Amino acid sequence: MASLQEYLRENRQAFLEKWFEALRIPSVSAESEHKPDIRRMADWLAGTLGGIGFDARLIETETNPLVFARSPEVPGKPTVLIYGHYDVQPVDPVGQWRTPPFEPTIADGKVFCRGADDDKGQSLTHVFAVMSLLAAGGRLPLNVKFILEGEEEIGSTALSAFLEKAENRDLLRADVILVSDTDKPGADQPGITYGLRGVVGYELTLTGPNRDLHSGLYGGSVRNPAQALCAMLSDVLGSDGKIQIPGFYDDVLPLSETERAELAKRPFDEAEALEAIGLDASFGESEYTVVERRGARPSFDINGLTSGYQGEGGKTIIPAQASAKFTFRLVPNQEPEKITRALEEFFRARLPEGIRMNLEFQHGAGGMVIPLESPYIQAAARGLASVYGKAPLFLRDGGSIPIVTKVKDRLGADLILAGFGLEEDGIHSPNEFFTLRDFFLGIEASAAILTELGTVGDK
Ligand SMILES: [Zn+2]
Repeated sequence: MASLQEYLRENRQAFLEKWFEALRIPSVSAESEHKPDIRRMADWLAGTLGGIGFDARLIETETNPLVFARSPEVPGKPTVLIYGHYDVQPVDPVGQWRTPPFEPTIADGKVFCRGADDDKGQSLTHVFAVMSLLAAGGRLPLNVKFILEGEEEIGSTALSAFLEKAENRDLLRADVILVSDTDKPGADQPGITYGLRGVVGYELTLTGPNRDLHSGLYGGSVRNPAQALCAMLSDVLGSDGKIQIPGFYDDVLPLSETERAELAKRPFDEAEALEAIGLDASFGESEYTVVERRGARPSFDINGLTSGYQGEGGKTIIPAQASAKFTFRLVPNQEPEKITRALEEFFRARLPEGIRMNLEFQHGAGGMVIPLESPYIQAAARGLASVYGKAPLFLRDGGSIPIVTKVKDRLGADLILAGFGLEEDGIHSPNEFFTLRDFFLGIEASAAILTELGTVGDK
């Protein structure tokens, strides 16, 4: 039997061909004309996993099917659940693609195609790793389950609903969840994201008079909802970057010295980062670094403002209505429901006479953080270090991946987020790519992580 390394080397072409087969299926979840492609993609995955001895099947839902697969039992070993998604983003603006978006094209050591990285490429690294471990060792180092969904890019409705049933949770039950849907910090620098921020979004609408009024006839005698909105919103955030809502920080866990030291290892050039976005100053809580502010502290941002006349020239009115959409990024342990109650109270106390308010909750998801001491995190770190020759950086990501946080919460298992692609891969953009090197290293890294996870609990 070939060693794992030999098998990986000898099968590069075979992996490439399989990967390309998957990439040629335009499984765009946002566009209904691609419904048949979604099914084709799900069938392809179930067929591929079934072909290597997994018990693989489609789980039908009201929307797109889930692909579930389970390895033959490996007694006495932990179970890993690998999550990924087989749907992709639309290709618009299609005119900006230099090669056909669903024909994988190799140039400069990169494979250009929609889904090359996000998330078909990254999900397949795990499939090929499992394939290699089976071929080289005859058995897997631990029990492996896959759950691959077809609507991550449009809100994960089916998987979300699936997780609400106890028997479904039992089906997915695992000791640890492994996800590659983020990126690594550098080509030769692996990373493990052990924290994600939550998010909660609202729309606040203020209504004054029953129609737009002449500002000459009425100005100075009635409340202007646009001005009331500005005043109320500006009270939310202090000039020190602190959110002013009473109790907002009550549940925020302090950052430990160990965490701060880990986060400080991430190479980050503030001046360069600012230049890239055309700014000459950063903003926020001065007692925290920019990396900490982005990943491990809450924030408030107005996302859109609407009121009054926006057309050409001027129009002398007092608008009847004003509204704003805004979000808070939350950190683990902060609850969206609690924030909503505090926010409602905060605005009520500031609502001027003559104005009515409607605060609409739009969406919310909690954050998550895995203790760095988790034996699974440590095992994954050993696996990554053995392949890249460098210990992974431990990262807290400022973004939110609501479905991943939900899977973790519902199953009560530790979560390892380890990406194999790079930020520059242009996911969601025209000319998305995955370098061949990152792809093959990803397969190797996944095999190493799975091998190390299989040792957790060994005496
Ligand atoms: Zn993705």
